[in-house]
Amino acid sequence: MRKKIVAGNWKMNLDYNEGLSLFSEVINIIKDEITGTQEAVVCSPFIHLHSLVQLAKGYDKVSVGAQNAHQAESGAYTGEISAKQIKSVGAEYVILGHSERRQYFGETNELLAKKTDTALANGLKPIFCIGETLQEREAETHFDIIKSQLVEGIFHLDEASFGKLVIAYEPVWAIGTGVTATSDQAQEIHAFIRQEIAAKYSPAVADATTILYGGSCNPKNAAELFAQADIDGGLIGGASLKSRDFADIVKVFN
Ligand code: PGA
Repeated sequence: MRKKIVAGNWKMNLDYNEGLSLFSEVINIIKDEITGTQEAVVCSPFIHLHSLVQLAKGYDKVSVGAQNAHQAESGAYTGEISAKQIKSVGAEYVILGHSERRQYFGETNELLAKKTDTALANGLKPIFCIGETLQEREAETHFDIIKSQLVEGIFHLDEASFGKLVIAYEPVWAIGTGVTATSDQAQEIHAFIRQEIAAKYSPAVADATTILYGGSCNPKNAAELFAQADIDGGLIGGASLKSRDFADIVKVFN
């Protein structure tokens, strides 16, 4: 059985104390309710990572992740954070290729392939984001876009490395807009992603890959989305900033 994951993406929100309070509240609500192969992950700004890891100690189904990492191992990159540094504070995951990074920071598939390699080499598990824009969907190029993000971003990995990834399908038009993909639209793309993984690696690898949906996922729509055969959880932005909402989404799998 592949792992079911609900991951929060706080983005550039919450000061240090606000982040610690929110995380403590979330743990208190969900700690006895995460069962089976399920996991809750919170991807915070860098400033919170070390403290969140401490707070998560003793809760083996609660993990912490970063939202970006540099592609180089170390060096003269003022203001950047390396995968090794993230790993050194005990974080397990890192979001890579979020559409906001692609859009505002010019991250390309080629760069993201390097970031993925460096993250994996340093023992982090990438949550690799892919998804089409509204224009791409309207032009009916969304399958091609998703395929090229997979091929150019992560299909260079060998099977063992690929097995450490989590994939997140996030249609850009659904992120932060309140417009969620319908469960049918999301399932269609998730099934396509799984089929592409099966063709590149094997049906067994495809079957073991956790594929999350992201984009205006909330406590009201999560159950229907997560009930789809190929949707294994969510990457949650806005709703991860409210402890009750995030906890309610985590609990969908109970
Ligand atoms: P949203 O963000 O849930 O606020 O739409 C999702 C994301 O960007 O990961």
